[in-house]
Amino acid sequence: MPSNETTERIDRQLLQEVVERAGPLTADGEVADYIPALAEVARDRLALAVAPLAGRPESADPVLAVGAGDEAFSIQSISKIFTLTLAMQRNVGARLWDRVGREPSGDPFNSIVLLEREEGVPRNPFINAGAILVADVLAGAGDDPIGALVSLVSELAGADIAVDERVAASEAATGYRNRSLAYLMRSFGNLVGEVEHVLDIYFQQCSLSMTARQLARATRYLANDGIDPSTGRAVLDPLDARRINALMLMAGTYDAAGAFAYEIGIPCKSGVGGGIVGIVPDQVSICAWSPALDQTGNSLAGRAMLASLVSRSGLSVF
Ligand code: GLU
Repeated sequence: MPSNETTERIDRQLLQEVVERAGPLTADGEVADYIPALAEVARDRLALAVAPLAGRPESADPVLAVGAGDEAFSIQSISKIFTLTLAMQRNVGARLWDRVGREPSGDPFNSIVLLEREEGVPRNPFINAGAILVADVLAGAGDDPIGALVSLVSELAGADIAVDERVAASEAATGYRNRSLAYLMRSFGNLVGEVEHVLDIYFQQCSLSMTARQLARATRYLANDGIDPSTGRAVLDPLDARRINALMLMAGTYDAAGAFAYEIGIPCKSGVGGGIVGIVPDQVSICAWSPALDQTGNSLAGRAMLASLVSRSGLSVF
């Protein structure tokens, strides 16, 4: 069970200080514009949300959120956590790991270089090629992957979560590189489904729209041995939850994963919408959001907020 000593030190005032100090950083970095719909988001937004496993006794809402914590944004690659969860739930783990690796890539999230050399087998499920492959596995498992995903995240977030169809259409219209990755994997016979259908699943999963508060709440099962503290339901078995955290630490923040582990010291998963989820096993899950990205594609102010929160509250797993 969670130790409450550390989480008790995280109060609204601490979160507000962290957010305020990050304010000037929103002038730096670039909002992603290779997906045109993402470029429309105001760069000055900042949010920080922390969800302790034990909830907050003084409140019915288990999440403490400050800044723009109730403003929805595009979760983008953070969705890769949830689709991997669905694949593990469907017990396709064994088949999955023949087709996707579990190693860091050391390359940008959308890189195609290694994929040619490694015969269409992506390095891990958190780079784009790997997540497209997971979408292929889910499509092959026979059910409606987006329906299953929406119902999983809605249950975990305690709210109705939906795909932003405008963002999905924008991604589909400009997703040339993702198409290249998918067709290359198809040419090697690793991706087996109908390519455009698989891509459609991938574009839709990335276009889920959620708030920092909802994301912090929805990822608590990863800090809690796979059990959603809101419902007591086992979303994953403890081993699979631990494995997702290991993959996040190693590959959740593109080719900056090493620097994240070194500077922050908790498993994180970021998305080009500017969100970053951080997991502190047995204690809390965290979501930071600010749209402008650094050169590695991670939220610049989000990364600074996580580093500051973790160091001030002693949450590093190391
Ligand atoms: N939909 C984005 C893409 O495929 C996701 C990238 C990300 O958030 O890392 O390019």
